[in-house]
Amino acid sequence: MAKLYFHYSTMNAGKSTALLQASHNYREGGMQTYLITAQFDKRAGRGRIASRIGIGEDADTFSTGEDLFAKIAARQAQGPVACVFIDEAQFLSKDQVWQLARAVDDLGVPVMCYGLRVDFQGNLFPGSAALLAWADEMREVRTICHCGRKATMVIRRGSDGRALHEGEQVVIGGNETYVSLCRRHWRAAMDD
Ligand SMILES: [Zn+2]
Repeated sequence: MAKLYFHYSTMNAGKSTALLQASHNYREGGMQTYLITAQFDKRAGRGRIASRIGIGEDADTFSTGEDLFAKIAARQAQGPVACVFIDEAQFLSKDQVWQLARAVDDLGVPVMCYGLRVDFQGNLFPGSAALLAWADEMREVRTICHCGRKATMVIRRGSDGRALHEGEQVVIGGNETYVSLCRRHWRAAMDD
């Protein structure tokens, strides 16, 4: 039976690498996969999922307000899809996550979402909150803090290298950098 999966992590944990490997495994078995990423993600260029270790695949994109049930149904009409992969799933809206759940149930296709759990202020992204509520299965893509503990939090650093305390949840194309930390070191960086 098809399921809705949420693979969550903090920044730089290798989410995209895990996604590309899983898709590759299907394709190696002669099956087709359907890759979708957020339209406003400019890191990899429009419609491409790229990992920091140097591999990448072209992908379709989802935009704000787009009906993803209809999008997956339209792709299925062109030929069988063994699995749908969504990168940057934290940017999905609550409605879009529900559309993915309906695609799993009513179209019978597994949907694997990969995304960040919390933002730099420690708050859930809307897409991640909905996925944590509704996914059939969840898995953590793990990475470690500089101290060796599991990193579950992320800080956004400004150009002066200091952790930012305020700002928009999503910044595209800025000069900020992100560092994944354990909660203890996140608290230290945020002067908690
Ligand atoms: Zn630490």
